[in-house]
Amino acid sequence: MEGAIVAARKSPLAEKLDQVRERIAAAAEKAGRKAKEITLIAVTKTAAPEQIREILQLGVADLGESRVQIIQQRIPQVNEFLQRQRTHGEPGAVPAKVRWHMIGHLQRNKVKPLLPMVDFIHSIDSLRLAEEIETHAAKLDKKVSVLLEINASEERSKFGVAVGASLHLAEQLDTMEHIQLVGLMTMAPLTDTPDQARFTFGRTREIFEEMKWHKIGGAAFKHLSMGMSNDFEAAIAEGATMVRIGTSLFGGKLESEQAEAAE
Ligand SMILES: *Cc1c(COP(=O)(O)O)cnc(C)c1O
Repeated sequence: MEGAIVAARKSPLAEKLDQVRERIAAAAEKAGRKAKEITLIAVTKTAAPEQIREILQLGVADLGESRVQIIQQRIPQVNEFLQRQRTHGEPGAVPAKVRWHMIGHLQRNKVKPLLPMVDFIHSIDSLRLAEEIETHAAKLDKKVSVLLEINASEERSKFGVAVGASLHLAEQLDTMEHIQLVGLMTMAPLTDTPDQARFTFGRTREIFEEMKWHKIGGAAFKHLSMGMSNDFEAAIAEGATMVRIGTSLFGGKLESEQAEAAE
């Protein structure tokens, strides 16, 4: 039954995903870049479980979440679904490998449970947090891919390292054996227009280039995680290689976000 409906008409989520992918491709072309340089991270904060399953079936292989507790709930469900699809579904029905991105503010006491679950942590903003990750990653004998979160607008966000302190912190991360610095992450202020957001993204790209010039992170240092539903085109214009998109795919707030607001 379900299959017949899907074949007859695209689901709302499939249509939204098409639109987002088209907008990414158009923004890339405008910037003289290739769309395949840009990874779409589907931020599942507001997604219902069936939407997560569907987006995996639509070929999205990168999922982002901002809270450790939610990641802990979601991953076993998603893994069970993937396992079932791989055993009983059609070949290629789901991506061969799904990567989880921790994109929200991370407290040190949550590092230990988080590490075994995620592939990327986008929100490193202090030496103490990095040291906590180094300690637990060493115990797991794992090298963790992290991005340094830059507070490039230096206003709204309480999170992210100040621009002036970012190079030094990146150099410190680069000495840690179980941490691989793969890039920078930033958020534009919520109230900004795309033009103002572009300024924040441009500034982050300049810091990124300065770090590259210092050879921080080596060849693995290649990601700029910037751009959300409201501003990802401006981010792509400034070189984003990862865009983190939630509401444009899944719509507005679900209970998880309300819980976050109530915290
Ligand atoms: C929620 C969130 C996103 C996605 O934002 P949308 O506006 O829903 O696309 C991206 N990045 C971070 C850090 C987030 O917390």
